[in-house]
Amino acid sequence: MPAKRVILLGSTGSIGTSALKVARDLPERMQIVGLAANSSADVLVQQALETGVKHVALTDPAAAAKAKVQLPDGVALHTGTHGLIDLINECEADMVLVAIVGTAGLAPALAAIERGMHLAVASKEILVMAGEAVTEAAKRKNVNLLPVDSEHNAIFQCLEGHRHSEIRRILLTASGGPFRQLPADQLPAVTVAQALKHPTWTMGRKITIDSATLFNKGLEMIEAKWLFDVPMDKIEVVVHPQSIVHSMVEFADNSVIAQLSHSDMCFPIQYAVTWPDRVSNNLKPLDFAKLAALHFEAPRVDDFPALNLARHAGTIGGTLPAVLNAANEVAVEAFLNGKLTFPGIWHTVERVMTAHHVISHPTLEALIEADSWARREASI
Ligand code: NDP
Repeated sequence: MPAKRVILLGSTGSIGTSALKVARDLPERMQIVGLAANSSADVLVQQALETGVKHVALTDPAAAAKAKVQLPDGVALHTGTHGLIDLINECEADMVLVAIVGTAGLAPALAAIERGMHLAVASKEILVMAGEAVTEAAKRKNVNLLPVDSEHNAIFQCLEGHRHSEIRRILLTASGGPFRQLPADQLPAVTVAQALKHPTWTMGRKITIDSATLFNKGLEMIEAKWLFDVPMDKIEVVVHPQSIVHSMVEFADNSVIAQLSHSDMCFPIQYAVTWPDRVSNNLKPLDFAKLAALHFEAPRVDDFPALNLARHAGTIGGTLPAVLNAANEVAVEAFLNGKLTFPGIWHTVERVMTAHHVISHPTLEALIEADSWARREASI
């Protein structure tokens, strides 16, 4: 079987770097043919030289100008707001791995689907914002949506060979983040440095803050609804601080199937690319004698309102999840810049959601408008 040709959107980030490692370790299965980032020109050029790709994109024009003089002849450089779509339209590939933080990956993801390219999705925000549009387009074009988020990749694996009608509950595991045991009255004093210290995963800044507030798990609940076509009331969150069980599915007979591995994103990235095959690799196997104990507990939903806000948004649907997502992005940025307290993140999201007039079954334009409205409203 020839190697899968993969365009990597968000190649300079945490997922992007892990994806490049998978491609280096499994060259017979994964060939990187396109790379894209926002402004990290030097890293992107280095990656282009290493992989030998013929297409790259840098959204930021100044960064693109810097990269242009460093890239070898014959490498097409796409830039500007349309640069990611140009990359998708001009580069021949079998799959696009969307690992751009936030919703900037939505338009190129839809363009990739239109070209019949399979999608490996790390950017949960695009499914939260436009899950209906993305899943419907994928169905129409007969394109696979392969989850890269470790929880959804786990659920995908647990569901293989089972009937959808037999799913009783999806159990999303959550590490609980750095403040799992912090008393609620100390949350207002949490610093950026403390929030950026995730206990089990090394990730980009936005998702690390989302993990601390539990908005990450909230976004994942909505992501699961779209990826697995299940209602919100069948999706539950279980705190599991070791991050070894990546998620579970309970079936009609009360049997639970789980997927386990060390917390390394190379596992789900590899499976999304090699699926339906399992391929031997150099990743660390589990040693159950050393693991000793796996611990589970209920999430603190009253102290971390993100879960209930996301459940509400996912249940109501329409434009509300897009509003939750956009308000959260703005609030996280404000927290990182010292302009908002840690609880200020969920207070902002709740305020913006409350002020929003939901549109049911929105068009893509209505979703984009709701997203922009929520960003403006959250900035006030
Ligand atoms: P990072 O912040 O580490 O990386 C983000 C990447 O997106 C960078 O390559 C960045 O480029 C690029 N980017 C940002 N904005 C744009 C834009 N407008 N146009 C093009 N490229 C852009 O994030 P992560 O890798 O941690 O996360 C990426 C996505 O994957 C998120 O949606 C996250 O929720 C999801 N995810 C991440 C996991 C993880 O372990 N990290 C686990 C599961 C899901 P530049 O360097 O130039 O800024």
